[in-house]
Amino acid sequence: MRLLLLGGTSEARELAALLVEAGIDVTTSLAGRVARPRLPVGGVRIGGFGGVPGLRAALADYDAVVDATHPFALGMTANAAAACTDVPLLRLERPGWDPDPAWRHVDTHEEAAATAASLGTRPFLTVGRQELARFVPALDRHEALVRVVDVPDLDLPASWRLVTSRGPYTLDGELDLLREHSADVLVTKDSGGTYTWPKMVAARRLGVPVIVVRRPPGPQGVPTVHDVRSALDWVTGLRSVR
Ligand code: NAP
Repeated sequence: MRLLLLGGTSEARELAALLVEAGIDVTTSLAGRVARPRLPVGGVRIGGFGGVPGLRAALADYDAVVDATHPFALGMTANAAAACTDVPLLRLERPGWDPDPAWRHVDTHEEAAATAASLGTRPFLTVGRQELARFVPALDRHEALVRVVDVPDLDLPASWRLVTSRGPYTLDGELDLLREHSADVLVTKDSGGTYTWPKMVAARRLGVPVIVVRRPPGPQGVPTVHDVRSALDWVTGLRSVR
């Protein structure tokens, strides 16, 4: 059993460790976006496949695919669904956060930007480097604090302050950061998981409004699980029918 694991998430790293332990030949694929990725155990390949045709060609080397990419990695998830016509595919998607009635949900980053502009002047943006351009038009005169893993290519407005760091974060650290910036609104995607959850607790404690960008819908017709153990069971189940 040779498994291709589309990764870039903590769940993918956990699954890779369990698969290696179960004796499965797993190769994790990373996009190559971050300068110093946390590497999983097992095999690793880095870089895009070249769209659906490239992925389809790469699948000749694998018996099954688990797409454990981030809930907002839309392109990779769509490509996997399109390419895996002859290879079993499972989507592993961590659950979103349990909604808090105080949060304001929006469907797009542009809507998040406009809502943030209407709610405050010192937003804390935690939406990822690739989405930042979508916040510039509405917030270019705001004193935004922007947190990303790696420095973005984009020229940021002069009034924005950039911090680079990578989770997991602590509640005390998040409280300090929000207070130190005097943040008056927090913007996030519904990433789910525990690594970035403390900012939500910190915002609630400090009475800072939270804007949450809703998740895009998952891939149509692809079996989906929401925890690493279920993904392991799916893979080991395939092995037993082979
Ligand atoms: P994306 O927009 O869905 O993907 C764009 C292109 O990047 C894909 O078409 C593919 O290129 C390549 N790619 C993406 N994930 C890949 C992977 N795991 N292995 C090989 N190629 C990959 O992806 P994204 O949102 O930029 O996310 C990139 C990576 O960062 C993903 O692995 C994701 O799990 C991780 N990540 C994303 C977020 C987020 O908020 N989006 C947050 C945390 C981690 P080709 O078409 O050339 O194959």
